[in-house]
Amino acid sequence: MKKPVSLQVGRLGMLTLPVCTCVYTGSARKHIEARIARHLRRKKTLRWHIDYLLVHPDIEVLEVLQFTAPECEVNQSVTGTVALKGFGSSDCTAGCVSHLKVLTDSP
Ligand SMILES: [Zn+2]
Repeated sequence: MKKPVSLQVGRLGMLTLPVCTCVYTGSARKHIEARIARHLRRKKTLRWHIDYLLVHPDIEVLEVLQFTAPECEVNQSVTGTVALKGFGSSDCTAGCVSHLKVLTDSP
């Protein structure tokens, strides 16, 4: 986040973030490259929670990393705070509170 951001994430609620660095963890069973390319596009139909964040003009994607470990395992290894409960974790069964975390030592 280059500036503080406050935005409505569909029916989930308001996401308010300071200037910070966040980590979002997601998955795709197939066509991962296409999914990543979609995430990086600014213009798209808002479908997933992360879409609402990634179309915001004050958001910059710094890095995209791919893992073979399950997304929840990767998410739970990230040390950070939850900005909005349930963000990206609607179908999570591993107990993640959110798949978007604000890094503890950010920006
Ligand atoms: Zn999870």
